[in-house]
Amino acid sequence: MRNVARKDTAPELAVRRSLHKLGMRYFVHRRPLPGLRRQADVVFPKAKVAVFVDGCFWHGCPEHAGKLEKTNGWYWPAKIQANRDRDADTNFRLDESGWVAVRIWEHESPDEAALRVAELVRVRRLTT
Ligand SMILES: [Zn+2]
Repeated sequence: MRNVARKDTAPELAVRRSLHKLGMRYFVHRRPLPGLRRQADVVFPKAKVAVFVDGCFWHGCPEHAGKLEKTNGWYWPAKIQANRDRDADTNFRLDESGWVAVRIWEHESPDEAALRVAELVRVRRLTT
């Protein structure tokens, strides 16, 4: 159960390292919104960008979670669905508050993901 909120996972650290290499400065494990009891893995407060590095299994990656679901019976799909609903709700609430949520799958290339984040932060710093 705790897997959902696990911190400093390998994929998360890899993304942070890639962001760091790009010269990005950020906060880790922060609540983007004070009223929202959810932390983002990486937060850029000025640009209002919140980054979540999502585990393929727990968050229902279309490429990787499906295979695992079949071997785990009924329980896991329900749990994954609950996580997906929660993720969607988090995205919605951030969006409502002028933030943007970036979701990175653990299977993605950390360097490519970091470039995507860096570009978004750069653009939003110019426009917000
Ligand atoms: Zn995946």
